[in-house]
Amino acid sequence: MDILSASFDELSQAFRENSIQAFRAKQVWEWLHKHLVLDYADMLNLPKSLREELAEKFPISCCSVKGKQVASDGTVKMLYELPDGDYVECVIMKYKYGNSICVSTEVGCKMGCAFCASTIGGFKRRLTPGEMLSEIYLAQKETCERISHIVLMGMGEPLDNFDNVMRFISLVTDEKGLNISMRNISLSTCGLVPEIRKLMEKHLQLTLSVSLHAPNNEIRNKIMPVNSRYPVEELLDACREYTLKTSRRISFEYSMLSGVNDSDDCARELASKLRGMLCHVNLIPVNEVEGSPFKPSSPERVKKFTEILEKNGINATVRRKLGSDIDASCGQLRLKQKKKGESI
Ligand code: SAH
Repeated sequence: MDILSASFDELSQAFRENSIQAFRAKQVWEWLHKHLVLDYADMLNLPKSLREELAEKFPISCCSVKGKQVASDGTVKMLYELPDGDYVECVIMKYKYGNSICVSTEVGCKMGCAFCASTIGGFKRRLTPGEMLSEIYLAQKETCERISHIVLMGMGEPLDNFDNVMRFISLVTDEKGLNISMRNISLSTCGLVPEIRKLMEKHLQLTLSVSLHAPNNEIRNKIMPVNSRYPVEELLDACREYTLKTSRRISFEYSMLSGVNDSDDCARELASKLRGMLCHVNLIPVNEVEGSPFKPSSPERVKKFTEILEKNGINATVRRKLGSDIDASCGQLRLKQKKKGESI
């Protein structure tokens, strides 16, 4: 059993089946999810014999800290090693409203977006709910500050890891655990339509971000392979339905790639396709990734693009860049760590 991914009821049942007293389940749950202690040896109100039994029967499968970098703006990037030797990164950003963590959901990514670093090393595997939780628990301990907001915008495609991500969300919002507000969670997808529909049935109060990055199939096909499976019209239909079903505003991510998707015509086409939808557009001048041909749009272009959207009744903001001096900005979570001499 993967104890860190288990709900309180599942953990209690496993303890019962192993004839461990019921109050121990509550103690262990609190050590894990309230005190963020990920080693039985440190669970000091448990007898030593029980700690040993638990370590043998229910090993805690989670990340361990391998490195930490702090940017000049206070953004922190954590490098973690997974039990099987793979690596993931997460980023902690400080805002006026609190600390936000950008969590990875997979090792590598199979979506292949042309401008994104996560895709370069290929896809390794999905993360378990416990591994995702441990990204947050270890970060909170490392920074000694409460994390109040979560964005699922690190490495990987959250909706490609649907069940694990849903369980992660239910654990992290559990009032017996870290108790993060559902409204403080953003989930970002490159546009997996069937999973967007599955998500809308759950009526969660989280914010759905959709990485659109182009107003039409011609441009989107060139930069996002997922578009050949779920073209713009199909994606936007699902998004519209999502907003109607959940009454939640969708946030469209739009990375501005100079000369590719940043013309006045693109802005007008985007505005016309989003018209009437409960949504917001987040413009992000693309972060340069080694080996990628894309350049960020100029500040003047971004300004003009924003103005056209606004003039056409679409809310738009330009995302502030954080952590760029430590390669921690959007899409830059590509691991530079070497594993057994092999690059990953
Ligand atoms: N797979 C998910 C979440 C991970 S990426 C998704 O595609 O939404 C988080 C966001 O960063 C996405 O909007 C992604 O398109 C964007 N992104 C990736 N690489 C980027 C880059 N080099 N510059 C700016 N944004 C980038």
